[in-house]
Parts: sequence; C-alpha cells; structure tokens
Amino acid sequence: MTQLTTDNCQLTAAHPAAATSEDRMLIVFIGPPGAGKGTQSKRLLDYLGISPLSTSEMLRQARAAGGSLGNLASQYMDNGRLVPDPLVLALVAEKLQEPQFATGCLFDGFPRTLQQARSLDESLARRGTPLDLALEMRADEDVLVARMLRRASAEKRVDDNPQTIAHRMEVYRQQTAPLIDYYRFQGILSVIDAIGTPDEVFERIKAAVDKRRARP
Ligand code: AMP
Repeated sequence: MTQLTTDNCQLTAAHPAAATSEDRMLIVFIGPPGAGKGTQSKRLLDYLGISPLSTSEMLRQARAAGGSLGNLASQYMDNGRLVPDPLVLALVAEKLQEPQFATGCLFDGFPRTLQQARSLDESLARRGTPLDLALEMRADEDVLVARMLRRASAEKRVDDNPQTIAHRMEVYRQQTAPLIDYYRFQGILSVIDAIGTPDEVFERIKAAVDKRRARP
C-alpha cells in the first residue's frame, strides 16, 4: 500500500510573499459531481491566494499524457469509478512537494475515500499543519444530474453520459459521503448550500472561510 508522505513538502511560509501561518489555510472541498466545485474553487483560490491540488485535474493530465499510469487511471475514470487509492495517494504526495503549497492548499476532489482522508491527516499531522476546514457543497441530486447532462453536451465530456453520471453519484454516496461525518466529528466541517447563482454560492463559501479564519 502506498503511503501518502509529504516529508519533503514545505507547508510553512518559505519566502517573503508567502502567507503567515495565521493566513495559511489548508482546505478540503467535498461535493457530489456537478455541485459546482470547479467554478467555486477558482474563486476561492483567488480570494485566499492559495494553490489548488485537484486530483481530477492531475488524473486528466496523466490520462492525456498516455503513459501506463494514465492508461490505468483512464480505465476507472471512463467508467465513473474511483481510481485506486494507492495511485491517487502517490500522485498527491509527489504534487504536494511543489513549493507553491508553502502558502496553503485547496484540495479539490481529494480526499474521496476514508482511506485517502486518513492518509492525508496522518501526513499533515506529522508536519504539524492539520486541515483548517472541510467545505461540503450540498445540493439535491436531481438538480445536479440535470446540470451535468447540460455540461456533457456543451463540453463533450466522455465521462458524462447518463449511466456514468448515475454511477458517479452512487460512488459519491457510498465512498465519499462518509467523509462528511469524518470531518464533522473533527469539528472542521462547513456545509454550503450549492444551489444559487455562482455569486450567491461564493458569498456563502466566503462567509464560512472568514468565520474559520476568525477562530483562534
Ligand atoms: P471529477 O471530475 O472530479 O468528478 O473526477 C473525474 C474522475 O477522476 C472521477 O470519476 C474518478 O475516476 C477520478 N478521480 C478524481 N479524483 C479522485 C480521487 N481523489 N480518488 C479517486 N479517483 C479520483
């Protein structure tokens, strides 16, 4: 089993432009497919000046590069199944070593399983930089499915057809939704109503982030 190790990763402020440890935020962004995480994470990144770590993006790049890792990932992604934890954890561990994560991180689409969440927590605990906040985008499943079908025809995404969407929803319910209780238990969960205009939803996210920052 590959362990997520971030031993060489600098998660502390490393240069004058970096945020102070008070400003630095480590956030996980959770939500079912189609909840608008992509749109909102861009805004949040601008707002906080932190870097994104999107496993979906990394996996899509690996798939496009076409190596053995990408081909393996593709077999899962094209069917709406989760890519196996060891592969995802190895990618994340490598990525986290990049210097832009000195000022914090927005984990997007990661973790998606309890195993991924525990591995991330263990790594961050070893470094003394635990997660600050887990944002859960919450919305009615029917609304999200309709949104995704519209996006599928506009963007021609291979992984967005009715069967795959239904399967991705199921995977979310079974494998990722348990993270909500996991983070609630840690006291870092904030639930965001994901229905509304992008501006309205972002105002809710900003309020949650500001509330967390105000806490000692
Ligand atoms: P998304 O666009 O975020 O729904 O991700 C597209 C696909 O990438 C998913 O259906 C999974 O196959 C894969 N994927 C992205 N992030 C992860 C992760 N943290 N763990 C496992 N698979 C992932």
